[in-house]
Amino acid sequence: MLLPMHPQPFEDELLSSWVTRIALENGLYTHALYKSCLGLDSSIFIRDIDKFFVPSLIDSLEEKTGLTSEKIKKMMLTSFEGRITERVIVNSNSRWILPLGIYHRTRRKKGIMYCPQCFAENPINYYKRIWRLSFIVICEKHHCLLRDSCPHCNSVIDYQRMGIGKAKFETPANDLGLCSSCTLPLWTNCSFTTPPEYTELISGYLAFLKAFTLNQPCIPLLKQPMELQEFNGLWILISSILRKRYFNSGVKANILKFTGIDINSSSGSHESFDQRPIEERLKILLAAFWVLDKWPDRLLQLASGTIYSQSTFQDLSEPPPYWLSTIIHRHLDKSIYTATDDELSSIQHYLKTHSIIPTTKTIALFANMHKGTCRDRLKSLK
Ligand SMILES: [Zn+2]
Ligand SMILES: [Zn+2]
Repeated sequence: MLLPMHPQPFEDELLSSWVTRIALENGLYTHALYKSCLGLDSSIFIRDIDKFFVPSLIDSLEEKTGLTSEKIKKMMLTSFEGRITERVIVNSNSRWILPLGIYHRTRRKKGIMYCPQCFAENPINYYKRIWRLSFIVICEKHHCLLRDSCPHCNSVIDYQRMGIGKAKFETPANDLGLCSSCTLPLWTNCSFTTPPEYTELISGYLAFLKAFTLNQPCIPLLKQPMELQEFNGLWILISSILRKRYFNSGVKANILKFTGIDINSSSGSHESFDQRPIEERLKILLAAFWVLDKWPDRLLQLASGTIYSQSTFQDLSEPPPYWLSTIIHRHLDKSIYTATDDELSSIQHYLKTHSIIPTTKTIALFANMHKGTCRDRLKSLK
């Protein structure tokens, strides 16, 4: 039997947002909807239902709302599979997806964001699927920085908890734009502008954002047939920039020198991109899109005077895609050429037959080697 109220989902809405709206429109809190109407046990609360496929949830929703299970599944983050990542990892961190940090029934991490301006002007507030993606930090419509916590009480965004602890007879406030903890409007008390110092740098990122929301190739300059190759490369590029050893040996300083962006790791550690605060992710993305804006020249500029090289890309989670690996091999191979033993013997022979005294200095000159290295190598030859 259908529920009395079954609001249609918005095209870009996240599953958990729609489920919460169904509950509130029916005068229920989410936990009551799960238990009494959908027949689910409390284990649903320790699941990230936007990632984790719960067949009984999808089946009940289909039955109670009349929406097909195919349409319901499209609201999950798994709908991004094949586009931004091969597979969404359900039981652990999944690339480009903000973790919720579910601990018992609470969420410890800032795993969902929102746009205060969207909330201020929308007649019905809801959460977009893209607001759980780590590389989305600015609203594509309003160009302001997204928020990931309540501006009044600093709680994480957890609309599914709305009404927890309230008495049964109380009617829930039917607005996902209210903080589940302090009940104040999430859109007030926010700054609507992006930091002015980034105005010039932001255009590359905004073009990427627009293309992503329109389902178009996000980094057209790279001419990649598949979006997945762009995203895999972007992940590796960002991971290489953030690698502690290289980041602290000139990369951070070069980013500051060339762009004015000071990437300071607030946590002090070197966590992966997805685990970092939103302000930091913005800075990292601006630096990455500054590099991609003049590809590959800017990558070489970033590497200049540093130890950032081919070796930076070794031992990363996976090999870089072709568009990135060709540049790395062609331009970032900083290994020093060393003559082979045979070549050194040939040089010695050549010098003797041409009546030139084969001193270490002369051999090193012919072999294009450092004198000290050449001396060591000659010793081992004897
Ligand atoms: Zn907005
Ligand atoms: Zn609050």
